[in-house]
Amino acid sequence: KQLFDESRAASRPTLSFEIFPPKGDLDHRTAREVAGGLAPLGPDFISVTYSAGGGGNKHSTNDVAEIIQSDFDTVCVAHLTCAGATASSIAASIEDLRAHNIENVLALRGDIPAGVEPAEFRFAKDLIPTLADAGFCVGAAAYPEGHIDCIDPKVNIEHLKEKVDAGASFLVTQLFFDNDYFYRFRERCTSARIYAPITCGIMPFLSKQQIQRMVFMCGASLPSPIIKLLARYEDDPASLRAAGIEYACKQLVDLEEHGADGLHVYTMNHPDIARACTEAIRCAG
Ligand code: FAD
Repeated sequence: KQLFDESRAASRPTLSFEIFPPKGDLDHRTAREVAGGLAPLGPDFISVTYSAGGGGNKHSTNDVAEIIQSDFDTVCVAHLTCAGATASSIAASIEDLRAHNIENVLALRGDIPAGVEPAEFRFAKDLIPTLADAGFCVGAAAYPEGHIDCIDPKVNIEHLKEKVDAGASFLVTQLFFDNDYFYRFRERCTSARIYAPITCGIMPFLSKQQIQRMVFMCGASLPSPIIKLLARYEDDPASLRAAGIEYACKQLVDLEEHGADGLHVYTMNHPDIARACTEAIRCAG
């Protein structure tokens, strides 16, 4: 099944959700609960993150993706990182993806493990052709405000173009809180002849700690309306959470109105977030 069917994308953006495999070894029950909350919302796909860092969920990405596909009849995208990988470990990952009937993969570099000098797979662009040649539908990450290690916006676009030229057929963005950054980025992509569909990753802020962590991790700009909300609800976590979800809903509706190819909600495994976002998009549309 095509993730981005051109005729459908022309009439409405795709809607998708990101989840991470529940921590702990193969916690299938929690995965089923999360999937059971998301699948009835009718997403075009659900993506499942990958942790190479020994976080306890390395192997469960594909397990969770398979559960979602088989038990909830929902298309999945499994994430896969390559920093520190070798040709034989990637070959084993490909076998595992196939064994789990996964057809769509988001190819990422991931974090470079301390003390490791990447050799065979330095960048995501080195992983993409291996997966595409193996028959997967391959996506890649895109950074509307530039990757945290990449200062020059022009170079950011050049690196993205390399990933598309290497075989990435769809792009999922890093979170951003100001849609204007995305609109300018989309123009730069078009100028650079990057035509792969770009789905916009939106993460609602739920707490001050979470937003601080995200901003320092990925370098996203905090617009003043968010800073004002953080100040207003400093001592009222429930209202701050509600304000964060409402802000994300407004971003998503604005992106749909501006013709985004896809809307991707970082659900953080909270089905209520996905539900609120889906309702806002459907009500507006
Ligand atoms: P790349 O595209 O390889 O880029 C990494 C850096 O190298 C960038 O600064 C880039 O500008 C630079 N670069 C690229 N090509 C070249 C070149 N030819 N020469 C010099 N420099 C170059 N991480 C996880 O661990 N698990 C996940 O499941 C996960 N999911 C994600 C999903 C999305 C949608 C996004 C946006 C990120 C995700 N990440 C995940 C985080 C990601 O692994 C990090 O952002 C990582 O630092 C970069 O990954 P990448 O695939 O974009 O790398």
